[in-house]
Amino acid sequence: MKPTRAFNESLWAFHFNSGSCNGCEIEIVAAITPRYDPERFGIKLVGSPKHADLLIITGPVVKKMKDRLLRVYAQIPDPKVVMCVGTCGISGGVFYDSYNLEGPVDDVVPVDVYVPGCPPRPEAIIHGVVKALAKLERIEGVGQ
Ligand code: SF4
Repeated sequence: MKPTRAFNESLWAFHFNSGSCNGCEIEIVAAITPRYDPERFGIKLVGSPKHADLLIITGPVVKKMKDRLLRVYAQIPDPKVVMCVGTCGISGGVFYDSYNLEGPVDDVVPVDVYVPGCPPRPEAIIHGVVKALAKLERIEGVGQ
């Protein structure tokens, strides 16, 4: 049996704000504080999409951010997983009928994991990361 990815590699995440109110960002920052300490498992935020396995997207996709989101998505090497954090990215949320909206995230890029809430609690975000890790292992066929 091969070792699982959790034991032979880290999961690095790149966060992209496609139009969030910043509420979801605050909860993501809370999720990486020492209270939860995901870095002890090798899970950390990185500054470049080229270094990431996981793309975390917050907010609905506003018109000005659509091309940037597509560019960031293309820069993440395969295999990759995409996690949408917050109700706005899932459905448009409170901004659903805004003139400035391109649409929910999965209208622009494919989404693997949805984390609902306005904003979701840190525990829910961490749960989403665990699901993303499982999806990545399935894609790679690691641990089977
Ligand atoms: S889901 Fe709530 S907290 Fe997150 S971006 Fe939308 S309005 Fe803000």
